[in-house]
Amino acid sequence: MYKGIGGSSGYGIGKIVIIKNDMPVYEIKSPENKENEIKRFLQAVDKFIEKTTKIAEHMRKTAGEKNAEIIEGHIIMLSDPFMQDEIKDKINSGMCAEEAVDKVCEQFIEMFTMTDDELTVQRATDIKDIRLRMLKILTGDRDIDISEVPKGSIIVAKDLTPSMTAGIVKENVEGIITQAGGFTSHSAILARALEIPGVFSVDDITDNARDGMEAVIDGKEGCVILNPSKEEITEYTTKKEKYLKNKEELNKYRNKATKTADSIEIELFGNIGKPEDAKNVKDNDGEGIGLFRTEFLFMENTQIPSEEEQFEAYKKTAVMMDGKEVIIRTLDVGGDKNIPYLGMEKEDNPFLGFRAVRYCLDRKEMYKIQLRALIRASVFGKIKIMIPLVTCVNELREVKVLVEDIKADLDRENIPYDKNISVGVMIETPAASEIADLLAKEADFFSIGTNDLTQYTMAVDRGNSKVAYLYSVYNPAVIRSIKRIISAAANENIIAGMCGEAAADPLLTPLGLKEFSVNASSILRTRAQIAKWTKAEADKVADEVMKCATQEEVYEILKRYER
Ligand code: PEP
Ligand code: MG
Repeated sequence: MYKGIGGSSGYGIGKIVIIKNDMPVYEIKSPENKENEIKRFLQAVDKFIEKTTKIAEHMRKTAGEKNAEIIEGHIIMLSDPFMQDEIKDKINSGMCAEEAVDKVCEQFIEMFTMTDDELTVQRATDIKDIRLRMLKILTGDRDIDISEVPKGSIIVAKDLTPSMTAGIVKENVEGIITQAGGFTSHSAILARALEIPGVFSVDDITDNARDGMEAVIDGKEGCVILNPSKEEITEYTTKKEKYLKNKEELNKYRNKATKTADSIEIELFGNIGKPEDAKNVKDNDGEGIGLFRTEFLFMENTQIPSEEEQFEAYKKTAVMMDGKEVIIRTLDVGGDKNIPYLGMEKEDNPFLGFRAVRYCLDRKEMYKIQLRALIRASVFGKIKIMIPLVTCVNELREVKVLVEDIKADLDRENIPYDKNISVGVMIETPAASEIADLLAKEADFFSIGTNDLTQYTMAVDRGNSKVAYLYSVYNPAVIRSIKRIISAAANENIIAGMCGEAAADPLLTPLGLKEFSVNASSILRTRAQIAKWTKAEADKVADEVMKCATQEEVYEILKRYER
C-alpha cells in the first residue's frame, strides 16, 4: 500500500493510465533573423491564448468559475509585458524562441519557489504549465489529452497541470494520483471540484505504477493499492457503494435548516478567500460565510488594496449573501503567508513572530483602512469582524478602540454603517484558549481556528512532515482546549464556532459547537452529520473523550460512536 495525502474524498477502482508531461526536446540554435524569431514567439503566444481560452470555457462548464479563472490566469501571466520583454530581450541576445521561453520561465519558477508561501509556490506550477505548453506549440509537439482516457481510468502523473486536467471527462476517471502536490495544489483543488477521488504526494508512484495495472484508491485516507487482491477489490467496492449512496442521500438536506436531532438550531457557514467564492457557498446551501480570509485580496494585488477596493469586495460579498451573516477576518499575514510588497523582514520563527493582528496593530494606518472598508460595507448586509491570532485581551481591546474611532469618523461624515457590528476573535493559540473565559466577556463571538490551534498547542509546524504524527486535532491537548473554549463561550452566552479544517470532520460533530464554517463542498455533509445527534448523546461522547489519555484513544472512541 502506498500512502499519500488524501486530497479529494471517494473511492476509485480501475486501471492505471500514466500521463507523461515531459518537456519537449528542442534544438538550441541562434535565429537567422531575430525579428522573425520574435514574430514566431508572438504567434505562439496568440495560439496559446486561443487554446487556453477554449480550455477555460470547457472548464467553466465542468469544474466551475474558480477553476476556469486559474487557467485564464495563465493568459494574464503570459501577456505580462515584463515577461514578454524578458523573452524578446533573450531572443535579441541570440537565443531561439524555445530557449528564451524556457530560460525566462525558469527564472520565474526559481523566484516563486524561493518563498515559503504556498500560494506563491503554486504560481511556479502555473509557470511550469505555461512553459510546457509554449514549448509544445513552438516545437509542434502534440498536446497531452487526458480527455481521451478510457472509462475506468486511474490517472497517474508526476503532477497535473491545470490545463492538463481541464479536459478530464469526469465519468471516465476513477481517480487521480500524483507524485507531487499537496492538499492545496491545483490538481487537488480541481479533483475536489470535479468530485474525483484523489491522492497526492505519493512517493515514487510514477516508477512503481505501470499502464494497465489494476489499482484502488482511497481519497479520504490517502491510500493507493497497486495490483489489489480479490478481497481488497471487494472491500473497496463495498466502501465505494456506501460512499456513493451517502452522497446521494445528502441531497435531501438541501434547503433544510441545520438542526440537531433534538431540534437545536446550529449555524452552518462556508469559508471563502474572495467575494466570488460566496456563490459556491450559496450553491451548496450555506447559511452564511464563517470565514473570509481577506489576505487573498492582498495577495492578488501588487500594492495594499485601497479602502474603495476593499469596500467593494466586502460589499459584494455582503450583497451576494443577501442579509446572511458574513464573518470577515482581518488581514492574517505572516507565518506562511507572505505578501511581497509589504516588505516584511525574514524571521527565524515566522509562525511565532510578526503575524496577523500583531502586524496590523503595528501598522494602524493600514489596518484602519481595512476596518473602515469593513464597517462601511456593513450597511449592505450582516458583516461581522473577526480578529486572527489573538493571544491577549489587550489586542481585542485595541481593535475595538480602532473600530469605535472609525465609527465616530463615519458618524461625523454622515456615512451609514451597522451600529451593532460585532467584533469576534479567532481562538487559535493556546494563550487565547487559556484566557477564553476573559476573552468571552469582551468578544462578541468565538471561532476556533483548529489549523493553528493544533500547531501551537502541540508545538508542531503545520507544514513539517517529520512531526506530522503529532499534528492531530484528536490529541487530548487539542480536544480539551476546544472543549474549554466552547464552555467559556457558553458561560458568557456567546457563540463558539469553528472555521479550521476540523469543522468538517464528521467525527468531531459531538463536541458541542454552535456554528460550523466549512468548505462549500462539505456543507451538506456537515448538516447531515449534525442532524444525527441529540445534545445529550453528543455530550456523553464528548465527556468520554475528555477522559482519554492519547490521540489514538480519542480517535478510537470517536470512531466507535461515528454515525
Ligand atoms: C485556522 O488556523 O484554523 C484557520 C482557519 O486559519 P488559517 O488556516 O487561515 O490560518
Ligand atoms: Mg489560522
